[in-house]
Amino acid sequence: MSVLVLGGAGYIGSHAVYQLVEQGEEVVVIDSLETGHREAIHPKATFYEGDIREIDFLRSVFKKETIDAVIHFAANSLVGESVEKPLKYFDNNVYGTQVLLQAMVEADVKHIIFSSTAATYGEPESVPITETMPTNPTSPYGETKLIMEKLMKWTEQAHDVKFVSLRYFNVAGAKETSEIGEDHRPESHLVPIILQTALGQRSHITIFGDDYDTEDGTCIRDYVHVEDLVQAHLLALDYLRKGGKSNIFNLGSNEGFSVKEMIETAREVTGKEIPAQIGKRRAGDPSVLIASSDKAKSVLGWNPTRTSVKQIIQDAWNWHSSHPDGYGKEG
Ligand code: UDP
Repeated sequence: MSVLVLGGAGYIGSHAVYQLVEQGEEVVVIDSLETGHREAIHPKATFYEGDIREIDFLRSVFKKETIDAVIHFAANSLVGESVEKPLKYFDNNVYGTQVLLQAMVEADVKHIIFSSTAATYGEPESVPITETMPTNPTSPYGETKLIMEKLMKWTEQAHDVKFVSLRYFNVAGAKETSEIGEDHRPESHLVPIILQTALGQRSHITIFGDDYDTEDGTCIRDYVHVEDLVQAHLLALDYLRKGGKSNIFNLGSNEGFSVKEMIETAREVTGKEIPAQIGKRRAGDPSVLIASSDKAKSVLGWNPTRTSVKQIIQDAWNWHSSHPDGYGKEG
């Protein structure tokens, strides 16, 4: 039996494929390579290049391979872009998942682990955020992820496809060996931008607002190491295979760090100056997002071991400094 990883050439997907292979799983990867990188795909995975909105393509993969579970990372994931291009997000994310579920029902595949987001909550009433708090997304991106969760809920009721939805907070870091890491084009995430500045590839980092209602005025986020985050997917796979019910879990560290604190930690880790300038607020940024991940710990037995901002930045720095062009100029 194989695990099918959709989006296995992307940042989080590629780390998942590595851990699955290391755990002895047979892995099949589907990726359109629109934002993923061929070089990030584990050489032991069987790779199919294609788009999940093409039902005949999905049908052919389900026919050729013996798949018992799907891990679904294949989506567009930029809040800002989703505000500009909402229909692109509904098409790739929502329609893509609809087609995927159709193909899973036809192939009688009963388990799906889904890459969701803290953006489903919107501006929280209080922190830490638990899974029972209201969901009021403030961007098309968050809205599409919430609709995708609902698609899975109703598909389960009709066709018994069990799902685990994992709502990620801020994911960063890289594999300890630096074989794979984060490479988005264009880059918009805080940790890689800080480290590209440390490498001299950017003259400075712009801090998006220092007038928030937080101690130092900059936004507070909850950072989780990509390797710990991926570990939760493997635990969720085990949970579903053992007959666990459909469920939703937050994945974060239960701790918040401001943008200024992240830059300061990166200065310590890298020994570089990392010039920073204060800029305007970025539209749609909540001031504070911190997860409660107690449910993932108690139900899945999740035990993050690399999630400290120092370790996250150290592992990310090892990747960026050894791969200053990411996966290469052509990407
Ligand atoms: N941020 C920043 N400058 C940047 C990129 C990000 O100040 O160049 C801030 C952003 O406003 C947010 C935090 O860093 O408060 C994390 O942003 P990121 O885009 O990494 O993740 P998000 O919180 O949007 O998922």
